[in-house]
Amino acid sequence: MGRKSVGVTPEGTPVELFTLTNARGTELCVMSYGAIIVSLKVCDRAGNLGDIVLGFDSLKGYLEQSAYIGAVVGRCANRIRKGRFPLDGRTVRLSVNHGPHHLHGGIRGFDKVVWQAEYVGTPGGEGLSLRHLSPDGDEGYPGRLAVEVRYLLTEDDELVVDYDATTDAPTPLNLTQHTYFNLAGRGDILGHKLMIAADGFTPVDASLIPTGEIAPVAGTALDFRTATPIGERIGNPDRQLEYAGGYDHNFVLRRAGPGLGHAARVVEPVTGRTLDVFTTEPGLHFYSGNFLDGSLAGKGNVYRQRSGFTLETQHYPDSPNHPQFPSTILRPGERYGSRTVFAFGVEG
Ligand code: BGC
Repeated sequence: MGRKSVGVTPEGTPVELFTLTNARGTELCVMSYGAIIVSLKVCDRAGNLGDIVLGFDSLKGYLEQSAYIGAVVGRCANRIRKGRFPLDGRTVRLSVNHGPHHLHGGIRGFDKVVWQAEYVGTPGGEGLSLRHLSPDGDEGYPGRLAVEVRYLLTEDDELVVDYDATTDAPTPLNLTQHTYFNLAGRGDILGHKLMIAADGFTPVDASLIPTGEIAPVAGTALDFRTATPIGERIGNPDRQLEYAGGYDHNFVLRRAGPGLGHAARVVEPVTGRTLDVFTTEPGLHFYSGNFLDGSLAGKGNVYRQRSGFTLETQHYPDSPNHPQFPSTILRPGERYGSRTVFAFGVEG
């Protein structure tokens, strides 16, 4: 476990970087700013360690980006239509930061605050606890919210992400982790083979807001029920892909019951690296880096369209406006709890 200072935010708040390791040599670096995963080094099939997440070379790179690279996003991940929703008979209005819509918690979401970070050693591995107090009215959200994210790196190369929160007034809450992966460490992600354990998805309109339906993936370019290279159908003439410039969709996970369910598996054929995602969440948002346009660079790479992908475990986008979707409302006296496990390995 290592801990060092990496600078200050424009407001003068110090930012620290924490390093967690395991006996296999796997190394995870997390920054207190945005609870950002800065780097994650895992072995390929030849035993070579490589960094498999997009990121920058200094704090400045993170402060200047608006692609949520590596960050925890909240209070609500994804879009909320026009930043408005009904709650207990009144209309709540949030900040809008993405055209007319609210995206990933607003103008200054959880990706842009400095969390209180503390090392937690456990018998299962090295961990880091990050806490944040979001005030009543933060980006328009009601209630004072106490939130904690814990990262644990296990000896089996699992990254366990636990979220915990309480509130003093009803608020929607839908936290996720927004790391962009590239299991090869460079180039594009089109050759990565992806399986998503979902029979349905939530179709979107032209501004990427869910229409409210749940449609079958069968017969569409969103059918990842069997492992398929990300690039195989990404250019298909499909209205959903055209709206998003690729994949930017929420998948409705097939679940056997409560608890952790297998959501996705990714295999990078050249390095043999694999990623399995398990979650307690009902949805998985798969984003193929469509808005990366070559204007960001870090770790010796220029981040272009398809340089990385995200697998964001979450409740469905715009849930507060769709009563038929699983609820995201957290009430006083309740405890928000969510777990996602990213398990790394090699194949072949
Ligand atoms: C969203 C994209 C958005 C990106 C931000 C993703 O989670 O689904 O639409 O542009 O985050 O860079």
